[in-house]
Amino acid sequence: MPRRVGADRRAVRLRADGHACMVAPRHCSARPASRPTFRRQRRIAQFTGSEIALLGFDSQLAPMSTKIRVTIWNEYRHEKENPKVAAVYPAGIHAALAEFLGAAEDFEIRTATLDEPEHGMTEAVLAETDVLIWWGHKAHQDVDDAIAARVAARVHAGMGFIALHSAHYAKPFKRLMGTTCSLCWRDDGEKERIWTVRPAHPIAAGVPAHFEIDPEEMYGEPFGIPEPDELIFISWFAGGEVFRSGATWQRSHGRVFYFRPGHETFPTYSDPNVRRIITNAVRWARPTVNLPDSAPRAERLED
Ligand code: ZN
Repeated sequence: MPRRVGADRRAVRLRADGHACMVAPRHCSARPASRPTFRRQRRIAQFTGSEIALLGFDSQLAPMSTKIRVTIWNEYRHEKENPKVAAVYPAGIHAALAEFLGAAEDFEIRTATLDEPEHGMTEAVLAETDVLIWWGHKAHQDVDDAIAARVAARVHAGMGFIALHSAHYAKPFKRLMGTTCSLCWRDDGEKERIWTVRPAHPIAAGVPAHFEIDPEEMYGEPFGIPEPDELIFISWFAGGEVFRSGATWQRSHGRVFYFRPGHETFPTYSDPNVRRIITNAVRWARPTVNLPDSAPRAERLED
């Protein structure tokens, strides 16, 4: 059997930090393209820009040279039904998020809401989404299970997922966590102090050691999440409770971030630190690969 040699077998996906993953080519001279070898997928190397240009790109890889395609999903029910919420977010929470995220030159923003066909989460939209932000609360049960499964599958393939506030009970988040995601709460409108406990993390870049949001809804422990891969923020509330407010998990090839603040009756998404954290999180959650789930038979690498 001929041995594969040379750079024409290879493709790379470049991360923002300059790292590139070598992956199996779609058109390999020695093996069918439908049988990538995972051993090669795991190989990591650094390349210069010119080397990357020579190597070319592969459809398994996220388009890292272009803008980050962000889709903001909002349930968009409170704003239409509760004047108190409409006063804070007249165009919807998704619009408020889109406004400040849209100011980032490296982001390309679109929005989707629950009452759109397929909740706006069509296969085509998800295929064109690098990072999905999710806000939901009163209508979690109205999200179709098949759509929740579709979203989770995209995360496993590489898409980033950011769950905000009451999205702790969103179907896609619960599916990705595999736990209850329950917590205790109190909607009295009280001071929240957020502590940055992992200041070196990219999501905490430019965020002070602590900052306050007043008023906010209280969320308290125990929070029914699996042990986070990284705990970045902890909240303290004036009523005495504490809460793991910012945490990350890797789920297959995708990155997940949960961020607590954002009750619908308070203007939390106008807070500059909250905005910075969500913006940082989008860049951190950017995909490095697009590898839909499969379990192919692997060819031997050695005779
Ligand atoms: Zn709330």
